[in-house]
Amino acid sequence: MIEIPDTGKGTSIVRLTPARCNIFAVTRNSRTIIIDTGISFDRARIEHALERKALVPEAVILTHTHFDHAGNAAWLQAEYGAEVVVQEAESGYLAAGDTPIPEGTHAVTRGLVSLGNMVTPMFRYEPCHADHVFRETFDLNRFGINGYIIHTPGHSPGGATVVIDGVVAVAGDSIIGTTPGKPFPPFADDVDLLLKSWRKIIDTGCETFLPGHGKPVSLGELREEYEKRSSVSGG
Ligand SMILES: [Zn+2]
Repeated sequence: MIEIPDTGKGTSIVRLTPARCNIFAVTRNSRTIIIDTGISFDRARIEHALERKALVPEAVILTHTHFDHAGNAAWLQAEYGAEVVVQEAESGYLAAGDTPIPEGTHAVTRGLVSLGNMVTPMFRYEPCHADHVFRETFDLNRFGINGYIIHTPGHSPGGATVVIDGVVAVAGDSIIGTTPGKPFPPFADDVDLLLKSWRKIIDTGCETFLPGHGKPVSLGELREEYEKRSSVSGG
C-alpha cells in the first residue's frame, strides 16, 4: 500500500493497482486521467481496478516510454478512448513500441544494461500513436485536472513530470522511491541533464514527489540528494 498525501485542493491521487511500475489515477470532479501504464501483463488488473473504482480515463500521460511504463498506452486508448500524451522526444519510440534502455548510473546497473541489450526484444511493447505531443509544457485543464506537465529529460530524452494542484509531482523514473534516502535513479541516459531536471522539479514548489517505482519522496529528501550531487559535479 502506498500512502499518498491529499493535495488539499480537491484532486484525488491513488495508485491504481500494483503493477510493473506505479500507475496513478488522478481524479477531480469525476474526471480521471492515468499516469503511466505498466506492461501488458498488468492489463487485467488495470481493467479490474478501473471497474471497481468506476473510473473511465480520459487521458493517459506517459512520464516516459520505457516498456514498463508504456505497455498499455495503446490498449487504454483503444478500450477507453483515452487520449495519450507524450513528450516530443519519445513520440517516435512510442509509435514504434521500442524505446532504448538507458545507461546504468553505477557499476551494478551498467552490467544489467548490457544483459538487457542482448535480450532487447523483451523490452518491446505495443506501438501507440500519441494524441498529444508536447515540447516544454502541457496544460491538463483540458481534461478537468488542475495541473500541467513539464519536460524533465535525463533518465530518458522525453522524461516528463506531472504537477498536480501545485502540491504533488508525479516524476516517473526521474526519481526512484524503492530505497529510502536514495531517490536518484539507478538508470539514466544523461546524469547531468537529469540533475538539471531535478532543479526544475524542485522549483515546481511541490511538497511530495511520486516516483515511477516505490514510495513517495519528500521535498527534504530530494533537496538533500540534489545538493550532494550538484556539489560533486561542480555545479
Ligand atoms: Zn524508465
